[in-house]
Amino acid sequence: MLSIRELTDKVRADARVSADEALELFRHAPLPLLGELADGIRARKHPHGIVTYIIDRNVNYTNVCVARCNFCAFYRPVGSGEGYVLGFDEIFRKIDETIALGGVQLLLQGGHNPDLPLEWYEDLFRAVKRRYPEFKLHALSPPEVIHLTRMARLPVSGVLDRLIDAGLDSIPGGGAEILVDRVRKVLNCYGKATADEWLGVMREAHRKGLRTTATMMYGHVETVEERLEHLLRLRELQDETGGFTAFIAWSYQPEHTELGGGEATGIEYLRMLATARIVLDNFPSLQASWVTQGGKVGQLSLAYGSNDMGSVMIEENVVRAAGASYCMDEVEIVRNIENAGFVPKRRNMHYDILGDPFFRQQAVPRVLELATARADGDTSRPEELGQYAARSAAEKRLRQQ
Ligand code: SF4
Repeated sequence: MLSIRELTDKVRADARVSADEALELFRHAPLPLLGELADGIRARKHPHGIVTYIIDRNVNYTNVCVARCNFCAFYRPVGSGEGYVLGFDEIFRKIDETIALGGVQLLLQGGHNPDLPLEWYEDLFRAVKRRYPEFKLHALSPPEVIHLTRMARLPVSGVLDRLIDAGLDSIPGGGAEILVDRVRKVLNCYGKATADEWLGVMREAHRKGLRTTATMMYGHVETVEERLEHLLRLRELQDETGGFTAFIAWSYQPEHTELGGGEATGIEYLRMLATARIVLDNFPSLQASWVTQGGKVGQLSLAYGSNDMGSVMIEENVVRAAGASYCMDEVEIVRNIENAGFVPKRRNMHYDILGDPFFRQQAVPRVLELATARADGDTSRPEELGQYAARSAAEKRLRQQ
């Protein structure tokens, strides 16, 4: 094994590190050195001092889910009185609000709801594209695509073709957790998608020309070796397809989950982020996860390998359900980027620069709290749901009432 000094030289020379070498750095390199190495890579890949962000909105179209991952505080079982499905009109309203704030896309993800067939997604995507032809749909993480393959009895390729035809623009990297099946079994998320299935959806999406992101949720039952295995599997697929635009790591949020436990600290996040920047030498961008780390650690991420502050979000339901509720609107994101010595630029999902901060061109209201999917106590059911065949016993009973 090379010494830390030799590994430092290797990273500075832009040479690829192995899993064992990355483990050695993660475990034994002093934090300032890890940060310096990651920051050096960031500066080589993004030499103009620009830090980007996107104005988009996280919309969770349903919280009803049959997957029941034990780390998830967001889902409700089929038949729960707290379950919801957003109506098309509610989604249009959210898009209108997003556009008014300078937004360019929805990040659309939700539970695995047995009463929403593939046709519901197709109709929604088509309706969005009819009303907002330029607006982008960054939608459906790989486990949701796998769920739809099972519902529609189609292969991944067939489901993706239909979604792309209806208006899907790109795929978010959610649901990756840790791409090691031992971990996925403990987290009860092996059934929703194995590591190979998650990677298989991304491979197929990249082949069809879609760009996607990749994520990692760490700090629960996995070992550090398994985190590195996750990173290496992503690096391997990126070598093959080049379809990932960015990587986002966030720490497991334990509140209100069945799994429970504690949360990784800020220092552990920065070590993980810097190590990811070193390992993922073929990923152009790394996002800061301010939504789980808060604005201050989010800002520090820019010195540990991140070149992007992610999304202003506007709305957030999943992380909030597990106890974290940080909010940064565009003004606050820009303030953090500039204070860290970088130039803020708006981007789209492909990381094309769209321009300078929107609020400097047009007056927009400050957003001091992220919106939720629905107001508390709103149990309304969208009318159009009745057009789609019900599959669950609970939904069939409800419709007979
Ligand atoms: S993480 Fe996603 S798939 Fe798992 S229970 Fe929550 S909503 Fe369902």
